[in-house]
Amino acid sequence: TLQDRLQSAFKNLRGKGRLSEADIDATAREIRVALLDADVAVPVVRDFIARIKERATGSEVSGALNPAQQVIKIVNEELVGILGGETRRIRFAKNPPTVIMLAGLQGAGKTTLAGKLGRWLKEQGKSPMLVAADLQRPNAVTQLQVVGEQAGVTVFAPEAGNGVGDPVKVARDAISEATRTLHDVVVVDTAGRLGIDAELMKQASDIRDAVQPDEVLFVIDAMIGQDAVQTAEAFLEGVDFTGVVLSKLDGDARGGAALSVRSVTGRPIMFASTGEKLTDFDVFHPDRMASRILDMGDVMTLIEQAEKAFDAEQAAADAEKIMGGSFTLQDFLKQIEAMSKMGSMTKILGMLPGMGQIKDQLADFDDREVDKIKAIILSMTPAERNQPKMIDGSRRARIAAGSGTQVSDVNQLVERFFAAQKMMQQMAKGGGMPGMPNLGG
Ligand code: GDP
Ligand code: MG
Repeated sequence: TLQDRLQSAFKNLRGKGRLSEADIDATAREIRVALLDADVAVPVVRDFIARIKERATGSEVSGALNPAQQVIKIVNEELVGILGGETRRIRFAKNPPTVIMLAGLQGAGKTTLAGKLGRWLKEQGKSPMLVAADLQRPNAVTQLQVVGEQAGVTVFAPEAGNGVGDPVKVARDAISEATRTLHDVVVVDTAGRLGIDAELMKQASDIRDAVQPDEVLFVIDAMIGQDAVQTAEAFLEGVDFTGVVLSKLDGDARGGAALSVRSVTGRPIMFASTGEKLTDFDVFHPDRMASRILDMGDVMTLIEQAEKAFDAEQAAADAEKIMGGSFTLQDFLKQIEAMSKMGSMTKILGMLPGMGQIKDQLADFDDREVDKIKAIILSMTPAERNQPKMIDGSRRARIAAGSGTQVSDVNQLVERFFAAQKMMQQMAKGGGMPGMPNLGG
């Protein structure tokens, strides 16, 4: 994968006191091949490599970082740059309804996205309405009605149902209906074709002209690789769009589309879809995507998901505890339980720094591991959970017996807990991730 390839490119720099031009050239070459193999567009790769070389060779020598870390830092910053820098949020209209139109090839994930956006907008306190303006595909209307129902969001559809009617009229009628019924965001699903064609573009631009959208989101399947650039350019010309949504990022082993589309079109990537479920969706964060590509661990996403699984109050209380150094094993137990609610441990581990590599080994092991940790903590008295320092040798033996584990398991858990506690305190103090190169932008 791109991630492995970049890691191996950096490996050769490790332990070097000073980087020669030859070192930089060799690393740049490896990064270049890695990016091309990941289907990143050629001009994007060319610019990227030129900047890396220039900055690595240039004056940016820092006392705090060794040369390898310095290069990783530069690559990270450049990756964030080509992914768009800052997150671009939806621009809501001053006078509702805000109109969001979706465009893209058939199968790109537009209808699914309509449901995901509907759910997400509702979560943001909006009152969205989805509009079935794909009258091309049989069942397209029904499909939108199904996702709308899953999302708990109103769907506006032509009375005649699937496959008949004028999509421009449907879209226009939908806006009036939304205004009348006080829906403040309208998401217009449109038809796609398997390939780019003039009729499709015409229909999409007619709908656009009729509804004057505040945002046109171009949805692109991240797995289409090299074709991504050409498709994006065709839609930019044919319909124009204000933002990009990458779909099927879960299936993309290579990441090339993500890295090309924003540079080539100059339009920001605003959202990412990572699965078929309505919850497999989030605002796109260039910095997090970059750190995921570099396997620096997506700590921010992890924290955000953890916070969602907790209620907000709980999260605030935990943060306070961590700051004050009073985070206990009881809190840890609650976190583990919340985490198992959010998804498999492997997914979680994959987001932790450096865990990318060993997560495969852990794949069929970690859920049992979690059960074991739970059993150990549950075998402790409340006092032990709240003051882990009191857990001495004889208590460890009792806990091991009570939980059906070995004393060494209990030792390991307690020690790992202390290490985690220390790390969290350091992070809370604003010191960043200990032991990690400073990757701040
Ligand atoms: P449309 O033709 O653009 O409206 O595309 P659809 O929304 O109908 O999606 C096409 C297929 O891709 C469906 O089977 C979806 O379930 C699937 N799909 C959409 N988004 C994602 C995603 O992010 N990940 C995965 N794995 N599948 C997706
Ligand atoms: Mg569709």
